[in-house]
Amino acid sequence: MYTLQPLSYDYSMLEPFIDAATMEIHHSKHHQAYVNNFNKALENNPELQNRTPEDLISNLNTLGIDETTKTAIRNHGGGVINHNFFWSIMDPNNQPNAKLTEEIIAIFGSVEELKKQFSETALKHFGSGWTWLVREASGALKIYSTSNQDSPLTLGHEPLLTIDVWEHAYYLKYQNRRVEYIENWWKTVKLI
Ligand code: MN
Repeated sequence: MYTLQPLSYDYSMLEPFIDAATMEIHHSKHHQAYVNNFNKALENNPELQNRTPEDLISNLNTLGIDETTKTAIRNHGGGVINHNFFWSIMDPNNQPNAKLTEEIIAIFGSVEELKKQFSETALKHFGSGWTWLVREASGALKIYSTSNQDSPLTLGHEPLLTIDVWEHAYYLKYQNRRVEYIENWWKTVKLI
């Protein structure tokens, strides 16, 4: 059985950018539901239960399981790990990562340019999903969005940054103002 990983900070610690009520519902209801449904998806596959969700999502296409179970793992296992990663990106205890910042400047020209391209990608993503900065196997950094709970791990890419652009991530405070949510979300990111 997989259990919901507790946050390493209080729900109120991202105020005023991400409000405590959104954080609490997002973590204790939405994220918990992904955990519950992920466990359900593995009920009939005991051989998968000892593997981490990251491992299952990374090897999704070679697990040798039926399509229904595969879809359930992609959606709910993806929901589990994407949220764990998202919470870690916004951790107020994070320190700037000089190596990542240097890499970003080398590829995008500046941190501001990375933020601009990332924000535009997040803004124009249609429907539910996530926007990512990833490192490909070649070492190249790329920005793209995935739909639903699809993870870059399935593509063999290492996630470096992510924003949740499902409406449940911002609707309570920002309603339809995704652009304002994205701008304020950056203020929670201490890594770059
Ligand atoms: Mn979410």
